[in-house]
Amino acid sequence: MFRADDYVKVESLGEAYELCKKRSSLVIGGMVWMKMTNVTKRTIVDLSGLGLDGIEETKDAFSIGCMCTLRQLETHEGLNRYFGGIFKECTRHIVGVQMRNCATVGGSVWGRFGFSDILTCLLALDAQVELYHEGILSLEEFAARPVRRDDRDILVRVIIRKDGRRAAYASQRNSQTDFPLIACCVSNLGRHWFVSVGARPGRARLARLVEDDFDTLPRLAAEAAGAFSYGTNMRGSGEYRHFLAETYTRRLMEQLRGRSVKRQ
Ligand SMILES: Cc1cc2nc3c(=O)[nH]c(=O)nc-3n(C[C@H](O)[C@H](O)[C@H](O)COP(=O)(O)OP(=O)(O)OC[C@H]3O[C@@H](n4cnc5c(N)ncnc54)[C@H](O)[C@@H]3O)c2cc1C
Repeated sequence: MFRADDYVKVESLGEAYELCKKRSSLVIGGMVWMKMTNVTKRTIVDLSGLGLDGIEETKDAFSIGCMCTLRQLETHEGLNRYFGGIFKECTRHIVGVQMRNCATVGGSVWGRFGFSDILTCLLALDAQVELYHEGILSLEEFAARPVRRDDRDILVRVIIRKDGRRAAYASQRNSQTDFPLIACCVSNLGRHWFVSVGARPGRARLARLVEDDFDTLPRLAAEAAGAFSYGTNMRGSGEYRHFLAETYTRRLMEQLRGRSVKRQ
């Protein structure tokens, strides 16, 4: 069981950062994941009073506050209109609405969980993260870093630029609300393809491909899926995951190109 002696609802990010410099303090999101752990902390730091629970849309970008819930991603009209409904698709299988009303974007991205649908989706959109201390960096770089206990920074928001890309998402689960067996997100901008695959079962990673005149979508999908490693666990074998990643990547590419999706 997760335990903490003290709870502080901070009034500024500066206050949160100062508190989090101590190893005995921990910033929390919705606490949905934390409550499943055996971690014991002196102080938990709550960011919910800082107005970071919204999704802002401007002419150039979407800015998603760290305390925004997964349910907000799922139901946000602007995000889903711009990105072809992928935020609904990548969240709708995560446990249930009540849980998605609590789990936050900050906790989901910071945690860099191998099974994360959210990380898989955001990676293919070439999103950026804003950290309080370090500033803005690409999600791809952030996601590649190990999750270290001594990293005391705070994830403030996720930024997705409106660069005109189209995107599609798919996951496969052994049962409706289980962790994914594989999660794939593909986006396309002209000749550029961005393919992220998560739940391999390792953490989502991104492959970037540039299409030439002789490429076919099956060949590109095979190249993208071949860029990752796959492992075996109780949900499925590495070989099966590789097959699924290639199949879903091809289908998503075909969907984005407006071709019929041929089932295998
Ligand atoms: C039973 C169960 C099933 C799940 N299934 C899925 C699934 O199928 N797909 C999927 O994508 N996800 C799944 N999740 C994960 C879930 O979607 C969230 O990602 C997870 O709960 C973390 O979000 P949270 O708000 O609860 O974070 P918390 O539990 O509060 O925090 C998680 C970690 O992030 C840190 N943190 C939180 N916010 C910040 C911040 N702003 N800055 C710095 N660090 C921060 C905390 O210190 C902690 O280390 C599942 C979770 C559970 C419990």
